[in-house]
Amino acid sequence: MLNKVLENVSTIAIGGHIRPDGDCVGSCVGLGQYIRENYSDKTVDIYLKDIPESFHFLNGTETILESVDNEEKIYDLFISLDCGDTDRLEYSKPLFVKAKHTFCVDHHISNIGFAEVNHIVPEASSTSELVYGLLDEEKISKNVAEALYLGIVHDTGVFQYSCAGPETFRVAAKLLEKGIDAPKIIEETFYAKSYAQNLVMGRALMESILFLNGTGIASFIRKDVMEFYGVGPKDLEGIVSQLRVTEGVEVAVFMYELRQNEFKVSLRSKEKVDVSRIAQYFGGGGHKKAAGFTMTGTPFDVLNNLSKQIEEQMEKLEKTQEQ
Ligand code: 5GP
Ligand code: MN
Repeated sequence: MLNKVLENVSTIAIGGHIRPDGDCVGSCVGLGQYIRENYSDKTVDIYLKDIPESFHFLNGTETILESVDNEEKIYDLFISLDCGDTDRLEYSKPLFVKAKHTFCVDHHISNIGFAEVNHIVPEASSTSELVYGLLDEEKISKNVAEALYLGIVHDTGVFQYSCAGPETFRVAAKLLEKGIDAPKIIEETFYAKSYAQNLVMGRALMESILFLNGTGIASFIRKDVMEFYGVGPKDLEGIVSQLRVTEGVEVAVFMYELRQNEFKVSLRSKEKVDVSRIAQYFGGGGHKKAAGFTMTGTPFDVLNNLSKQIEEQMEKLEKTQEQ
């Protein structure tokens, strides 16, 4: 499939979603480096903004372009990775719109297939796993393997979530055979937290509240608090997962303030509730068990609206179980 998409193409842009996470960075850098290493006749530009410091060891991250020099530039091909809709490409969207050809690889259930050629598999653990499937196994270098492995680790919660199926483990095994230091990648990019990150997480957990009889848990962090601790959005990764593991909880909600009374909302569910449907209802998207959206209002407005949606789904589930 990759050979076909790259046919007659010489300039390529790769872009992922705003506030890129591990899977987004891993898939973009992994595919970008693979093309650079194996197709010397093609040039690749990778567009991602503000990636976490701990991902910088990945080969290729030093070439990432954090701004678009010329919005009029017309690439032969734009490859969108791990991005559910074109708006989430954010600053690289104009390049996507102008590109001669477009290709989308993604695993978001909310992705409608916005490119010319689409490879969307909602059941896949990660976009990095899907990218692996496009590559010639023999031509994958250790550097590319590190990027794809990092992506899989992050989107599966270190191979824990139900999205990690047999194929995920087969792919991971193949990547391990490339000689990567897997424990180091897991420890240093997934588990490691700065002191400030731990303080903010502690505060979010301490201030969390239960709702819907303890089946929901929610917490939020305001902008002034983030400024006080000197942390940004990418430092808050992991808080919603920690809320989710609370006993008795089905849905966890974590919000942080983007601008005054505008919140980025993260949703996680254990098994019953499909949070991607809830996120889509509020204009966002994601997966069944991990989704998000942006909303204005006070945190309590957001929570009120959300809890109605969660309750509706739970009630419907109870009814179908009774039948
Ligand atoms: P997170 O809560 O970690 O930001 O995101 C969880 C999942 O939902 C990710 O797969 C992410 O891409 C998706 N997601 C988060 N926020 C949004 C949003 O505003 N719009 C869309 N379409 N997807 C989102
Ligand atoms: Mn992903």
